[in-house]
Amino acid sequence: MALDRSNPVPNDLSAFWMPFTANRQFKKAPRMMVSADRMHYKTADGREVLDGTAGLWCCNAGHNRPKIVEAIRQQAGELDYAPAFQMGHPKAFELANRLRDMAPEPFEHVFFTNSGSEAVDTALKIAIAYQRAIGQGTRTRLIGRERGYHGVGFGGISVGGIVNNRKFFGTLLNGVDHLPHTHLPAQNAFTRGQPEHGAHLADELERIVALHGPETIAACIVEPMAGSTGVLMPPKGYLEKLRSICTKHGILLIFDEVITGFGRLGSPFAADHFGVMPDMITCAKGLTNGVIPMGAVLATKEIHEAFMQGPEHMIELFHGYTYSGNPIASAAGLATLELYREEGLFERAAGMASYWEDAVHSLRDCPHVIDIRNMGLIAGIELEPIAGEPTKRAFTAFLDAYEHNVLIRTTGDIIALSPPLIIEKAHIDTLFGTLRDILKRLH
Ligand code: PMP
Repeated sequence: MALDRSNPVPNDLSAFWMPFTANRQFKKAPRMMVSADRMHYKTADGREVLDGTAGLWCCNAGHNRPKIVEAIRQQAGELDYAPAFQMGHPKAFELANRLRDMAPEPFEHVFFTNSGSEAVDTALKIAIAYQRAIGQGTRTRLIGRERGYHGVGFGGISVGGIVNNRKFFGTLLNGVDHLPHTHLPAQNAFTRGQPEHGAHLADELERIVALHGPETIAACIVEPMAGSTGVLMPPKGYLEKLRSICTKHGILLIFDEVITGFGRLGSPFAADHFGVMPDMITCAKGLTNGVIPMGAVLATKEIHEAFMQGPEHMIELFHGYTYSGNPIASAAGLATLELYREEGLFERAAGMASYWEDAVHSLRDCPHVIDIRNMGLIAGIELEPIAGEPTKRAFTAFLDAYEHNVLIRTTGDIIALSPPLIIEKAHIDTLFGTLRDILKRLH
């Protein structure tokens, strides 16, 4: 049946069980996007909405970029699918090479997944299997962090530190500990970039090691900058400390760069930005500009080599997905990375960062604002909670912003912003001008 352009919203919204959504509320007042172009969405009611969040932190090159669209079209007409196991196709190998060339030096190998959640579970499994492969089979414990978000697989929610993502789902993985989060509002509120205070929180890892013994711990996973729980910057010296404690005790360090990968902070990866090298990096989202689901784990030569022992006919890692390195996703990834390079989008993000920083911090005098955090092209604006009320001011701000043609994102009392890296100064002015008006009229 042809789409009725005059009324693109189906009459029946009952079947689709929407993720992380108040379904009953949404279905009473659906907020529907029907098309997109560069910095804007078009809504079903015909409005243009400025994308202040790059979709879900993923459309780093903006929307509907012809280069990516064309690459997908061509690939779909040439090779739509190839079995992912014991077979290959050129584009997946090419994309792995491109990722290796773009990643910091130690990362020479790429394992493809279909999402950030799968990349996280894959990295955790590789970590445990690696320890076993090097004769450290007692190392099975995993360490995450409070307020960490690592997707929604059982591995990811186990190492993650978001209460609502865990409490409904039983016992989760055994043998997981959590570092404290690094958010110290009393000392660090309104810091531009990395806060001064909090490096000592990495020492908690020493406490966990002392408690269980280093010989029990396989890996520690953190987001170098926590995105989904409110844009929390690593304190100065914190990541360096984590790195050195992990190295000292033979613990693998995994950076979950699903948000920070592909230019968000002005460098290809946050590992480059902070100058701290983990042993594995997980990424997704910006890998294909969010257009086709795809994720990846980047691993060092040392980790990869540990698996490449034994007889050659043996499968080295008993893990993979039907769609690992899918041809169309690979083609989208190649076109996306090419677009980032051609348009210098990571450098562009770095160049725009100070304008962005001044703009977000100009909201400091607005009502309810108790903290502002930023780096590269990302920011968090924290609002004072309403005592004893489940309603969050930030969500009210989201609804108001949407009505006024600006898309923002919220998590608890925090507004999170992460626009496409093609954003212009005029868009930044519109975004923060609209937000200023909204904050002024917020209850
Ligand atoms: N890790 C991090 C750091 C993320 O931000 C996200 C998604 N926001 C994920 C993992 C999960 O990615 P996905 O939704 O693609 O499974």
